[in-house]
Amino acid sequence: MSHRNVLTAAGLTEAELTGGTLSVHSPIDGTEVAKVRETRPEEMPAIIAKAQDAFRAWREVPAPRRGELVRLLGEELRNAKEELGAVVTLEAGKIVSEGLGEVQEMIDICDFAVGQSRQLYGLTIASERPGHRMMETWHPLGPCGVITAFNFPVAVWSWNTALALICGDPVIWKPSEKTPLTAMATMKIMERALERFGDDAPDGLLQLVIGGAEIGEALVASKDVPILSATGSTRMGSVVGPKVMERWGRPILELGGNNAMIVAPSADIDMAVRAIVFSAVGTAGQRCTSLRRVIAHESIREDLVAKLAKAYQTLPVGDPRKEGTLVGPLIDGKAREQMRAALKTAKEEGAHVHGGEAVTDNVPDGGAYVAPAIAEMPAQSDIVRTETFAPIIYVMGYDTLEQAIAMQNDVPQGLSSCIFTLNMREAESFLSAVGSDCGIANVNIGPSGAEIGGAFGGEKETGGGRESGSDAWKGYMRRQTNTVNYSAELPLAQGVKFDI
Ligand code: NAD
Repeated sequence: MSHRNVLTAAGLTEAELTGGTLSVHSPIDGTEVAKVRETRPEEMPAIIAKAQDAFRAWREVPAPRRGELVRLLGEELRNAKEELGAVVTLEAGKIVSEGLGEVQEMIDICDFAVGQSRQLYGLTIASERPGHRMMETWHPLGPCGVITAFNFPVAVWSWNTALALICGDPVIWKPSEKTPLTAMATMKIMERALERFGDDAPDGLLQLVIGGAEIGEALVASKDVPILSATGSTRMGSVVGPKVMERWGRPILELGGNNAMIVAPSADIDMAVRAIVFSAVGTAGQRCTSLRRVIAHESIREDLVAKLAKAYQTLPVGDPRKEGTLVGPLIDGKAREQMRAALKTAKEEGAHVHGGEAVTDNVPDGGAYVAPAIAEMPAQSDIVRTETFAPIIYVMGYDTLEQAIAMQNDVPQGLSSCIFTLNMREAESFLSAVGSDCGIANVNIGPSGAEIGGAFGGEKETGGGRESGSDAWKGYMRRQTNTVNYSAELPLAQGVKFDI
Protein backbone atom coordinates (compact mmCIF):
# COMPACT_ATOMS: atom_id res chain seq x y z
CA MET A 1 0.00 0.00 0.00
CA SER A 2 1.33 3.47 -0.83
CA HIS A 3 2.11 5.89 1.98
CA ARG A 4 -0.83 8.06 0.98
CA ASN A 5 -3.23 5.11 1.02
CA VAL A 6 -2.12 4.16 4.54
CA LEU A 7 -2.97 7.66 5.68
CA THR A 8 -6.33 7.92 3.93
CA ALA A 9 -7.31 4.45 5.20
CA ALA A 10 -6.82 5.89 8.70
CA GLY A 11 -9.33 8.63 7.86
CA LEU A 12 -6.94 11.50 7.11
CA THR A 13 -8.14 13.74 4.29
CA GLU A 14 -6.22 15.25 1.41
CA ALA A 15 -6.83 18.71 2.88
CA GLU A 16 -5.32 17.65 6.22
CA LEU A 17 -2.27 16.15 4.55
CA THR A 18 -1.34 19.04 2.28
CA GLY A 19 -0.78 22.77 2.33
CA GLY A 20 0.62 23.05 5.86
CA THR A 21 4.04 24.13 7.08
CA LEU A 22 5.15 21.04 9.02
CA SER A 23 6.82 18.58 6.72
CA VAL A 24 6.42 14.96 7.83
CA HIS A 25 8.82 12.28 6.59
CA SER A 26 8.55 8.51 6.78
CA PRO A 27 11.67 6.90 8.28
CA ILE A 28 11.06 3.94 5.95
CA ASP A 29 12.40 5.79 2.92
CA GLY A 30 12.82 9.40 4.02
CA THR A 31 10.08 10.64 1.69
CA GLU A 32 7.86 13.53 2.63
CA VAL A 33 4.42 12.04 3.27
CA ALA A 34 2.50 15.14 4.32
CA LYS A 35 2.66 18.83 5.04
CA VAL A 36 0.36 19.45 7.97
CA ARG A 37 -0.99 22.63 9.47
CA GLU A 38 0.77 23.80 12.62
CA THR A 39 -0.95 25.38 15.59
CA ARG A 40 0.10 29.02 15.92
CA PRO A 41 1.35 30.16 19.35
CA GLU A 42 -1.30 32.90 19.40
CA GLU A 43 -4.01 30.21 19.19
CA MET A 44 -2.86 28.57 22.44
CA PRO A 45 -4.63 30.84 24.98
CA ALA A 46 -8.05 30.11 23.41
CA ILE A 47 -7.28 26.39 23.28
CA ILE A 48 -6.34 26.36 26.96
CA ALA A 49 -9.41 28.44 27.87
CA LYS A 50 -11.59 25.93 26.04
CA ALA A 51 -10.05 23.12 28.07
CA GLN A 52 -10.83 25.06 31.27
CA ASP A 53 -14.47 25.43 30.17
CA ALA A 54 -14.59 21.72 29.41
CA PHE A 55 -13.16 20.99 32.85
CA ARG A 56 -15.97 22.85 34.61
CA ALA A 57 -18.53 20.56 32.94
CA TRP A 58 -16.57 17.26 32.88
CA ARG A 59 -15.69 17.28 36.59
CA GLU A 60 -19.41 17.02 37.37
CA VAL A 61 -20.02 13.99 35.16
CA PRO A 62 -19.95 10.90 37.43
CA ALA A 63 -16.67 9.00 37.11
CA PRO A 64 -18.26 5.70 35.92
CA ARG A 65 -20.00 7.67 33.17
CA ARG A 66 -16.65 9.22 32.26
CA GLY A 67 -15.37 5.66 32.11
CA GLU A 68 -18.02 4.91 29.47
CA LEU A 69 -16.28 7.34 27.09
CA VAL A 70 -13.01 5.47 27.63
CA ARG A 71 -14.81 2.16 27.05
CA LEU A 72 -16.06 3.48 23.71
CA LEU A 73 -12.56 4.69 22.85
CA GLY A 74 -11.28 1.15 23.52
CA GLU A 75 -13.96 -0.25 21.20
CA GLU A 76 -13.16 2.20 18.43
CA LEU A 77 -9.46 1.41 18.80
CA ARG A 78 -10.23 -2.29 18.42
CA ASN A 79 -12.10 -1.50 15.18
CA ALA A 80 -9.25 0.65 13.85
CA LYS A 81 -6.29 -1.37 15.13
CA GLU A 82 -4.87 -2.34 11.72
CA GLU A 83 -5.25 1.13 10.21
CA LEU A 84 -3.69 2.97 13.15
CA GLY A 85 -0.92 0.37 13.52
CA ALA A 86 -0.02 0.93 9.87
CA VAL A 87 0.32 4.69 10.47
CA VAL A 88 2.64 3.97 13.43
CA THR A 89 4.77 1.84 11.10
CA LEU A 90 4.74 4.51 8.41
CA GLU A 91 5.56 7.44 10.65
CA ALA A 92 7.73 5.92 13.41
CA GLY A 93 9.23 3.03 11.38
CA LYS A 94 8.13 0.27 13.77
CA ILE A 95 7.77 -3.26 12.40
CA VAL A 96 4.16 -4.33 11.82
CA SER A 97 3.73 -6.34 15.03
CA GLU A 98 5.16 -3.48 17.12
CA GLY A 99 2.87 -0.97 15.40
CA LEU A 100 -0.10 -3.20 16.23
CA GLY A 101 1.31 -3.82 19.71
CA GLU A 102 1.32 -0.11 20.36
CA VAL A 103 -2.38 0.11 19.52
CA GLN A 104 -3.03 -2.95 21.71
CA GLU A 105 -1.36 -1.08 24.56
CA MET A 106 -3.88 1.73 24.02
CA ILE A 107 -6.73 -0.78 24.17
CA ASP A 108 -5.30 -2.33 27.33
CA ILE A 109 -5.07 0.97 29.19
CA CYS A 110 -8.63 1.81 28.15
CA ASP A 111 -9.84 -1.46 29.67
CA PHE A 112 -7.84 -0.75 32.81
CA ALA A 113 -9.19 2.79 33.10
CA VAL A 114 -12.81 1.71 32.67
CA GLY A 115 -12.51 -0.49 35.74
CA GLN A 116 -10.59 2.20 37.58
CA SER A 117 -13.40 4.70 36.93
CA ARG A 118 -15.42 2.84 39.58
CA GLN A 119 -12.47 2.65 41.99
CA LEU A 120 -11.27 6.21 42.63
CA TYR A 121 -11.11 5.27 46.28
CA GLY A 122 -10.04 7.38 49.22
CA LEU A 123 -9.30 6.10 52.72
CA THR A 124 -11.30 6.35 55.90
CA ILE A 125 -8.98 7.33 58.73
CA ALA A 126 -9.37 6.84 62.49
CA SER A 127 -9.82 10.22 64.16
CA GLU A 128 -8.20 10.90 67.54
CA ARG A 129 -11.23 13.01 68.52
CA PRO A 130 -14.51 11.51 69.79
CA GLY A 131 -17.52 12.02 67.52
CA HIS A 132 -15.34 12.75 64.49
CA ARG A 133 -14.80 10.99 61.22
CA MET A 134 -11.87 11.44 58.84
CA MET A 135 -11.63 10.44 55.22
CA GLU A 136 -10.00 11.44 51.99
CA THR A 137 -11.71 12.27 48.73
CA TRP A 138 -10.16 12.45 45.28
CA HIS A 139 -11.31 15.27 43.00
CA PRO A 140 -10.57 16.18 39.37
CA LEU A 141 -7.60 18.54 39.08
CA GLY A 142 -7.97 20.35 35.76
CA PRO A 143 -6.67 20.30 32.18
CA CYS A 144 -3.76 17.96 31.55
CA GLY A 145 -1.13 18.86 28.93
CA VAL A 146 0.42 15.79 27.32
CA ILE A 147 3.69 16.24 25.42
CA THR A 148 4.85 13.03 23.74
CA ALA A 149 7.99 11.67 22.07
CA PHE A 150 8.30 10.20 18.56
CA ASN A 151 9.06 6.64 19.65
CA PHE A 152 5.71 5.86 21.27
CA PRO A 153 3.63 8.20 19.16
CA VAL A 154 0.23 7.06 20.45
CA ALA A 155 0.59 4.72 23.46
CA VAL A 156 1.94 7.40 25.80
CA TRP A 157 -0.98 9.70 24.94
CA SER A 158 -3.38 6.89 25.81
CA TRP A 159 -1.71 6.11 29.15
CA ASN A 160 -2.28 9.71 30.16
CA THR A 161 -5.60 10.30 28.46
CA ALA A 162 -7.47 7.19 29.58
CA LEU A 163 -6.64 8.06 33.21
CA ALA A 164 -7.08 11.83 32.88
CA LEU A 165 -10.55 11.33 31.37
CA ILE A 166 -11.85 9.05 34.11
CA CYS A 167 -10.31 11.37 36.70
CA GLY A 168 -12.33 14.29 35.28
CA ASP A 169 -9.56 16.14 33.44
CA PRO A 170 -9.61 17.41 29.83
CA VAL A 171 -6.48 16.75 27.75
CA ILE A 172 -4.49 18.90 25.36
CA TRP A 173 -2.03 16.78 23.38
CA LYS A 174 1.13 18.00 21.74
CA PRO A 175 2.70 15.06 19.90
CA SER A 176 6.28 15.02 18.64
CA GLU A 177 6.72 17.18 15.55
CA LYS A 178 8.11 14.00 13.95
CA THR A 179 4.84 12.07 14.41
CA PRO A 180 1.79 14.35 14.04
CA LEU A 181 -0.02 11.99 11.66
CA THR A 182 -0.49 9.17 14.17
CA ALA A 183 -1.89 11.80 16.54
CA MET A 184 -4.30 13.12 13.90
CA ALA A 185 -5.43 9.57 13.08
CA THR A 186 -5.96 8.87 16.80
CA MET A 187 -8.12 11.98 17.14
CA LYS A 188 -10.37 10.64 14.35
CA ILE A 189 -10.89 7.51 16.42
CA MET A 190 -11.51 9.60 19.53
CA GLU A 191 -14.10 11.65 17.62
CA ARG A 192 -16.03 8.49 16.79
CA ALA A 193 -16.07 7.54 20.47
CA LEU A 194 -17.22 11.05 21.41
CA GLU A 195 -20.02 10.94 18.87
CA ARG A 196 -21.33 7.69 20.30
CA PHE A 197 -20.97 8.97 23.86
CA GLY A 198 -23.34 11.88 23.39
CA ASP A 199 -23.81 15.31 24.92
CA ASP A 200 -22.18 14.81 28.35
CA ALA A 201 -18.77 15.31 26.75
CA PRO A 202 -18.12 19.05 26.53
CA ASP A 203 -16.42 20.73 23.59
CA GLY A 204 -12.71 21.03 24.19
CA LEU A 205 -12.48 17.84 26.28
CA LEU A 206 -9.82 16.48 23.94
CA GLN A 207 -7.71 18.79 21.84
CA LEU A 208 -4.67 18.31 19.62
CA VAL A 209 -2.04 20.96 18.97
CA ILE A 210 0.64 20.47 16.36
CA GLY A 211 4.12 21.95 16.42
CA GLY A 212 7.52 21.92 18.08
CA ALA A 213 8.92 23.05 21.41
CA GLU A 214 7.33 26.49 21.14
CA ILE A 215 3.81 25.04 21.19
CA GLY A 216 4.74 22.69 24.02
CA GLU A 217 6.09 25.65 25.97
CA ALA A 218 2.67 27.34 25.90
CA LEU A 219 1.30 24.35 27.83
CA VAL A 220 4.32 24.28 30.11
CA ALA A 221 3.94 27.97 31.00
CA SER A 222 0.18 28.15 31.57
CA LYS A 223 -1.21 28.15 35.11
CA ASP A 224 -4.45 26.90 33.56
CA VAL A 225 -2.79 23.57 32.76
CA PRO A 226 -2.26 22.20 36.30
CA ILE A 227 -0.94 18.82 35.14
CA LEU A 228 1.82 18.60 32.56
CA SER A 229 2.92 15.16 31.47
CA ALA A 230 6.07 15.32 29.34
CA THR A 231 7.76 12.33 27.72
CA GLY A 232 11.06 12.73 25.93
CA SER A 233 14.74 13.40 26.45
CA THR A 234 16.29 14.35 29.76
CA ARG A 235 17.38 17.58 28.04
CA MET A 236 13.71 18.46 27.38
CA GLY A 237 12.67 17.45 30.91
CA SER A 238 15.37 19.60 32.47
CA VAL A 239 13.77 22.63 30.79
CA VAL A 240 10.12 21.65 31.24
CA GLY A 241 10.22 20.32 34.84
CA PRO A 242 11.50 23.47 36.57
CA LYS A 243 9.18 25.71 34.52
CA VAL A 244 6.10 23.74 35.58
CA MET A 245 7.26 23.69 39.20
CA GLU A 246 7.93 27.43 39.12
CA ARG A 247 4.25 28.08 38.46
CA TRP A 248 3.20 25.44 41.03
CA GLY A 249 1.94 23.03 38.41
CA ARG A 250 2.32 19.26 38.68
CA PRO A 251 4.84 17.78 36.24
CA ILE A 252 4.77 14.09 35.33
CA LEU A 253 8.15 13.50 33.69
CA GLU A 254 9.00 10.38 31.69
CA LEU A 255 12.53 10.94 30.39
CA GLY A 256 15.54 9.03 29.14
CA GLY A 257 16.69 5.62 30.32
CA ASN A 258 19.96 3.69 30.33
CA ASN A 259 18.75 0.24 31.12
CA ALA A 260 20.93 -2.67 32.16
CA MET A 261 20.82 -6.43 32.48
CA ILE A 262 23.00 -8.28 34.98
CA VAL A 263 23.73 -11.81 33.77
CA ALA A 264 24.77 -13.98 36.71
CA PRO A 265 26.76 -17.25 36.53
CA SER A 266 23.63 -19.35 37.13
CA ALA A 267 21.60 -17.61 34.39
CA ASP A 268 19.81 -19.56 31.67
CA ILE A 269 22.12 -18.17 28.99
CA ASP A 270 19.95 -19.06 26.00
CA MET A 271 16.99 -17.27 27.56
CA ALA A 272 19.20 -14.30 28.43
CA VAL A 273 20.38 -14.11 24.82
CA ARG A 274 16.79 -14.03 23.54
CA ALA A 275 15.84 -11.37 26.08
CA ILE A 276 18.91 -9.27 25.24
CA VAL A 277 18.26 -9.39 21.51
CA PHE A 278 14.60 -8.36 21.84
CA SER A 279 15.30 -5.63 24.40
CA ALA A 280 18.32 -4.21 22.58
CA VAL A 281 17.25 -4.30 18.93
CA GLY A 282 13.43 -4.19 19.15
CA THR A 283 12.14 -0.82 17.85
CA ALA A 284 15.72 -0.48 16.52
CA GLY A 285 16.88 0.36 20.05
CA GLN A 286 14.57 3.37 20.21
CA ARG A 287 12.57 2.56 23.32
CA CYS A 288 13.09 4.44 26.56
CA THR A 289 13.38 0.95 28.09
CA SER A 290 15.72 -0.47 25.42
CA LEU A 291 18.57 -2.52 26.83
CA ARG A 292 21.78 -0.49 26.61
CA ARG A 293 24.14 -2.19 29.06
CA VAL A 294 24.90 -5.86 29.72
CA ILE A 295 26.81 -6.52 32.94
CA ALA A 296 27.95 -10.14 32.68
CA HIS A 297 29.77 -12.27 35.24
CA GLU A 298 33.37 -12.83 34.09
CA SER A 299 32.85 -16.62 34.11
CA ILE A 300 30.21 -16.44 31.36
CA ARG A 301 30.99 -13.12 29.63
CA GLU A 302 32.93 -14.50 26.65
CA ASP A 303 30.42 -17.25 25.99
CA LEU A 304 27.55 -14.75 26.20
CA VAL A 305 29.22 -12.31 23.78
CA ALA A 306 29.94 -15.10 21.32
CA LYS A 307 26.30 -16.21 21.38
CA LEU A 308 25.08 -12.64 21.02
CA ALA A 309 27.45 -11.90 18.14
CA LYS A 310 26.15 -15.02 16.39
CA ALA A 311 22.50 -14.03 16.94
CA TYR A 312 23.20 -10.48 15.71
CA GLN A 313 24.65 -11.78 12.43
CA THR A 314 21.30 -13.17 11.31
CA LEU A 315 19.05 -10.28 12.40
CA PRO A 316 16.75 -9.23 9.55
CA VAL A 317 17.23 -5.47 9.11
CA GLY A 318 15.00 -3.74 6.60
CA ASP A 319 11.62 -2.45 5.53
CA PRO A 320 9.45 -2.57 8.67
CA ARG A 321 6.37 -3.39 6.55
CA LYS A 322 7.93 -6.61 5.29
CA GLU A 323 7.10 -9.87 7.02
CA GLY A 324 10.12 -11.24 8.83
CA THR A 325 11.85 -7.90 9.43
CA LEU A 326 12.87 -7.48 13.06
CA VAL A 327 14.91 -4.27 12.89
CA GLY A 328 13.37 -1.32 11.08
CA PRO A 329 14.96 2.07 10.40
CA LEU A 330 16.14 4.69 12.86
CA ILE A 331 13.91 7.74 12.95
CA ASP A 332 16.25 9.79 10.71
CA GLY A 333 19.79 10.29 9.43
CA LYS A 334 20.70 12.36 12.48
CA ALA A 335 19.99 9.37 14.73
CA ARG A 336 22.27 7.21 12.58
CA GLU A 337 24.98 9.85 12.83
CA GLN A 338 24.60 9.88 16.64
CA MET A 339 24.99 6.10 16.69
CA ARG A 340 28.12 6.29 14.55
CA ALA A 341 29.59 9.00 16.79
CA ALA A 342 28.84 7.01 19.97
CA LEU A 343 30.58 3.92 18.56
CA LYS A 344 33.57 6.02 17.52
CA THR A 345 33.86 7.38 21.07
CA ALA A 346 33.43 3.89 22.51
CA LYS A 347 36.32 2.66 20.34
CA GLU A 348 38.47 5.55 21.56
CA GLU A 349 37.60 4.43 25.08
CA GLY A 350 38.86 0.93 24.29
CA ALA A 351 35.77 -0.86 22.96
CA HIS A 352 35.84 -3.90 20.72
CA VAL A 353 32.80 -3.37 18.48
CA HIS A 354 30.76 -5.95 16.55
CA GLY A 355 28.34 -4.55 13.93
CA GLY A 356 27.05 -0.99 13.98
CA GLU A 357 27.58 -0.15 10.32
CA ALA A 358 25.00 1.49 8.04
CA VAL A 359 22.91 -1.01 6.07
CA THR A 360 22.19 -0.10 2.46
CA ASP A 361 21.58 -3.47 0.76
CA ASN A 362 18.04 -4.84 0.56
CA VAL A 363 16.53 -1.87 2.38
CA PRO A 364 14.43 0.97 0.97
CA ASP A 365 16.53 3.88 -0.34
CA GLY A 366 16.45 6.98 1.84
CA GLY A 367 15.94 5.31 5.23
CA ALA A 368 18.53 5.24 8.05
CA TYR A 369 19.09 1.50 8.50
CA VAL A 370 21.82 0.12 10.76
CA ALA A 371 23.24 -3.18 11.91
CA PRO A 372 22.75 -3.36 15.70
CA ALA A 373 26.04 -3.12 17.60
CA ILE A 374 27.70 -4.88 20.50
CA ALA A 375 30.51 -2.91 22.13
CA GLU A 376 32.71 -4.86 24.58
CA MET A 377 33.94 -2.22 27.02
CA PRO A 378 36.94 -2.31 29.36
CA ALA A 379 34.93 -0.19 31.85
CA GLN A 380 31.71 1.79 32.27
CA SER A 381 32.98 4.99 30.65
CA ASP A 382 31.16 8.26 29.90
CA ILE A 383 29.71 7.11 26.59
CA VAL A 384 28.18 4.10 28.37
CA ARG A 385 26.55 6.45 30.86
CA THR A 386 24.98 8.43 27.99
CA GLU A 387 21.68 7.38 26.40
CA THR A 388 22.25 6.99 22.64
CA PHE A 389 18.88 6.34 21.04
CA ALA A 390 20.02 3.49 18.77
CA PRO A 391 20.63 -0.29 18.93
CA ILE A 392 23.95 -0.37 20.80
CA ILE A 393 24.67 -2.57 23.81
CA TYR A 394 27.77 -2.04 25.88
CA VAL A 395 29.00 -5.26 27.53
CA MET A 396 31.05 -5.17 30.71
CA GLY A 397 32.25 -7.83 33.12
CA TYR A 398 31.90 -8.21 36.92
CA ASP A 399 33.16 -10.44 39.70
CA THR A 400 30.77 -9.92 42.63
CA LEU A 401 27.06 -9.12 42.71
CA GLU A 402 27.77 -6.00 44.79
CA GLN A 403 30.04 -4.75 41.99
CA ALA A 404 27.41 -5.52 39.38
CA ILE A 405 24.67 -3.68 41.27
CA ALA A 406 26.98 -0.71 41.86
CA MET A 407 27.71 -0.58 38.14
CA GLN A 408 24.03 -0.96 37.23
CA ASN A 409 23.18 2.01 39.47
CA ASP A 410 26.15 4.17 38.47
CA VAL A 411 24.42 6.05 35.63
CA PRO A 412 22.40 9.27 35.76
CA GLN A 413 19.20 7.59 34.55
CA GLY A 414 16.95 5.23 36.56
CA LEU A 415 14.23 3.76 34.37
CA SER A 416 14.43 -0.02 33.88
CA SER A 417 16.70 -2.87 34.92
CA CYS A 418 16.85 -6.64 35.22
CA ILE A 419 18.85 -9.62 36.39
CA PHE A 420 19.12 -13.07 34.85
CA THR A 421 19.82 -15.57 37.58
CA LEU A 422 18.48 -18.84 38.97
CA ASN A 423 19.86 -17.97 42.39
CA MET A 424 17.08 -16.78 44.70
CA ARG A 425 19.44 -14.81 46.95
CA GLU A 426 20.79 -12.87 44.01
CA ALA A 427 17.32 -12.19 42.59
CA GLU A 428 15.92 -10.95 45.88
CA SER A 429 19.02 -8.83 46.62
CA PHE A 430 18.60 -7.17 43.21
CA LEU A 431 14.99 -6.28 44.06
CA SER A 432 15.79 -5.16 47.62
CA ALA A 433 16.52 -1.71 49.01
CA VAL A 434 20.23 -2.23 48.30
CA GLY A 435 19.57 -3.50 44.78
CA SER A 436 18.50 -1.76 41.59
CA ASP A 437 17.69 1.95 41.99
CA CYS A 438 15.33 1.98 38.99
CA GLY A 439 11.57 2.46 38.73
CA ILE A 440 11.35 -0.94 37.04
CA ALA A 441 13.36 -4.00 38.15
CA ASN A 442 12.77 -7.44 36.64
CA VAL A 443 14.00 -10.98 37.16
CA ASN A 444 14.57 -13.26 34.18
CA ILE A 445 12.87 -10.95 31.71
CA GLY A 446 14.41 -8.04 29.81
CA PRO A 447 13.96 -4.37 30.74
CA SER A 448 11.61 -3.44 27.90
CA GLY A 449 8.03 -4.36 27.05
CA ALA A 450 6.19 -3.26 30.19
CA GLU A 451 2.55 -4.21 30.75
CA ILE A 452 0.05 -1.44 31.46
CA GLY A 453 -1.01 -2.90 34.84
CA GLY A 454 2.10 -1.65 36.64
CA ALA A 455 3.07 1.95 37.31
CA PHE A 456 5.55 3.00 34.62
CA GLY A 457 8.39 5.45 35.17
CA GLY A 458 11.81 5.90 36.68
CA GLU A 459 14.06 7.73 39.12
CA LYS A 460 16.93 10.22 38.87
CA GLU A 461 17.21 11.83 35.42
CA THR A 462 14.32 9.71 34.17
CA GLY A 463 12.20 12.28 35.99
CA GLY A 464 10.33 10.44 38.77
CA GLY A 465 6.91 10.41 37.04
CA ARG A 466 4.59 7.40 37.10
CA GLU A 467 1.96 6.66 34.48
CA SER A 468 -0.31 3.83 33.38
CA GLY A 469 -1.29 1.20 35.97
CA SER A 470 -1.27 0.65 39.75
CA ASP A 471 -2.22 3.92 41.48
CA ALA A 472 -0.80 6.24 38.79
CA TRP A 473 -4.35 7.67 38.47
CA LYS A 474 -3.69 9.65 41.65
CA GLY A 475 -1.33 11.87 39.64
CA TYR A 476 -4.35 13.23 37.77
CA MET A 477 -6.46 14.13 40.81
CA ARG A 478 -6.24 16.27 43.90
CA ARG A 479 -6.53 14.66 47.30
CA GLN A 480 -8.75 16.28 49.88
CA THR A 481 -8.64 15.28 53.54
CA ASN A 482 -12.02 15.68 55.22
CA THR A 483 -12.81 15.77 58.94
CA VAL A 484 -16.49 15.66 59.96
CA ASN A 485 -17.59 16.42 63.52
CA TYR A 486 -20.90 14.74 64.36
CA SER A 487 -20.69 15.47 68.12
CA ALA A 488 -21.95 18.50 70.06
CA GLU A 489 -18.42 19.23 71.34
CA LEU A 490 -15.50 20.99 69.66
CA PRO A 491 -12.38 19.15 70.88
CA LEU A 492 -9.08 20.28 69.37
CA ALA A 493 -6.44 17.90 68.10
CA GLN A 494 -3.29 17.22 70.13
CA GLY A 495 -5.26 18.09 73.32
CA VAL A 496 -4.90 21.83 72.73
CA LYS A 497 -7.15 23.94 75.00
CA PHE A 498 -8.58 27.17 73.62
CA ASP A 499 -11.61 28.05 75.75
CA ILE A 500 -13.43 31.30 75.00
P1 NAD B 1 12.55 15.06 22.61
O1 NAD B 1 12.94 15.46 23.99
O2 NAD B 1 13.35 15.56 21.48
O3 NAD B 1 11.03 15.51 22.32
C1 NAD B 1 9.95 15.05 23.12
C2 NAD B 1 8.81 16.04 23.06
O4 NAD B 1 9.14 17.22 23.80
C3 NAD B 1 8.45 16.53 21.65
O5 NAD B 1 7.04 16.59 21.54
C4 NAD B 1 9.08 17.91 21.60
O6 NAD B 1 8.45 18.78 20.70
C5 NAD B 1 8.86 18.37 23.03
N1 NAD B 1 9.74 19.45 23.51
C6 NAD B 1 11.06 19.58 23.31
N2 NAD B 1 11.52 20.68 23.96
C7 NAD B 1 10.47 21.23 24.59
C8 NAD B 1 10.30 22.39 25.42
N3 NAD B 1 11.32 23.18 25.73
N4 NAD B 1 9.07 22.66 25.90
C9 NAD B 1 8.02 21.85 25.61
N5 NAD B 1 8.12 20.77 24.82
C10 NAD B 1 9.33 20.45 24.32
O7 NAD B 1 12.50 13.45 22.60
P2 NAD B 1 12.34 12.43 21.38
O8 NAD B 1 13.60 12.41 20.57
O9 NAD B 1 11.03 12.65 20.69
O10 NAD B 1 12.19 11.05 22.16
C11 NAD B 1 13.25 10.26 22.60
C12 NAD B 1 13.52 10.45 24.08
O11 NAD B 1 12.32 10.24 24.82
C13 NAD B 1 14.51 9.45 24.64
O12 NAD B 1 15.37 10.12 25.54
C14 NAD B 1 13.63 8.44 25.38
O13 NAD B 1 14.29 7.73 26.39
C15 NAD B 1 12.57 9.33 25.90
N6 NAD B 1 11.35 8.59 26.20
C16 NAD B 1 11.04 8.35 27.51
C17 NAD B 1 9.91 7.60 27.83
C18 NAD B 1 9.58 7.29 29.26
O14 NAD B 1 8.44 6.88 29.50
N7 NAD B 1 10.47 7.45 30.21
C19 NAD B 1 9.07 7.11 26.82
C20 NAD B 1 9.41 7.40 25.49
C21 NAD B 1 10.55 8.14 25.20
